[in-house]
Amino acid sequence: MKIYLNGQLVSKDEAKISVFDHGLLYGDGIFEGIRIYNRKVFLLQEHIERLYESAHAIRLTIPLSPAEMTKAVEETVAANELVDGYIRLVITRGSGSLGLDIRRTSDPQVIIIADKISLYPEELYEHGLKIITASTIRNHPQALSPRIKSLNYLNNILAKIEGSDAGCLEAVMLNHKGEVAECTGDNIFIVKNGVLKTPSTDAGILDGITRRAVLRLAREAKMEVLETTMTRHELYVSDECFLTGSAAEVIAVVELDGRLIGDGKPGPVTKDLKTRFEKLTRE
Ligand code: PMP
Repeated sequence: MKIYLNGQLVSKDEAKISVFDHGLLYGDGIFEGIRIYNRKVFLLQEHIERLYESAHAIRLTIPLSPAEMTKAVEETVAANELVDGYIRLVITRGSGSLGLDIRRTSDPQVIIIADKISLYPEELYEHGLKIITASTIRNHPQALSPRIKSLNYLNNILAKIEGSDAGCLEAVMLNHKGEVAECTGDNIFIVKNGVLKTPSTDAGILDGITRRAVLRLAREAKMEVLETTMTRHELYVSDECFLTGSAAEVIAVVELDGRLIGDGKPGPVTKDLKTRFEKLTRE
């Protein structure tokens, strides 16, 4: 495996960074998770744009232009001869002295890992996930905006632990107002009376790139789509529920907090959007 590290492709063993890196010491950095389908990097430009927006929001200057970053990602994928896979693109603040001051850091690290991934067992894509609501709420947008894909994922990890403790692979998180936000690593959708609904980005969620793609597909298919405020009750009484993410793709949710969703099986709209999404990944 070849890892891109600051302009060079190095072996896994050589891919090392300083213990003084503020990415490690403080979670000070940003990342993207991106899919490779049939040797092509899926929706790369949207991921690059979000990466540079995250960087801008945390006052981090990426030492490459977006065009250079695009080329670096493509070269890393080609060097690893991956047909299908997953890219983790990480930018850290760089190493510095102990203390939070970003002015004492120098060398932001640019890391690109291209590997295989399988997030959930294959049978769950057929039968759907059982999830719970975590008591850990999503980061308050005025504390750390969930729009920033930062290296600080403890908020989500704490919710994920609650999910694992309950025997679930995902957990839904509410926001500081008690509204539905998203899952620990995926966005959430429901279908009710034929209408596709998902929390709006104002709910304090990551503006997921798979979420955007699914919304585009639904609108193209002339479905009625609503980006809106959502309560947990609406999830409980929904006809269908599914999650989206670069790693997760499109996966049905069939049970939440011990309540069956619909008839407890992946529904027709979910299946249809999943098929449309799969087709898009093969274009
Ligand atoms: N929400 C969170 C918290 C995430 O970490 C992710 C990505 N893993 C998503 C949603 C899905 O975003 P995307 O479709 O851009 O991968």
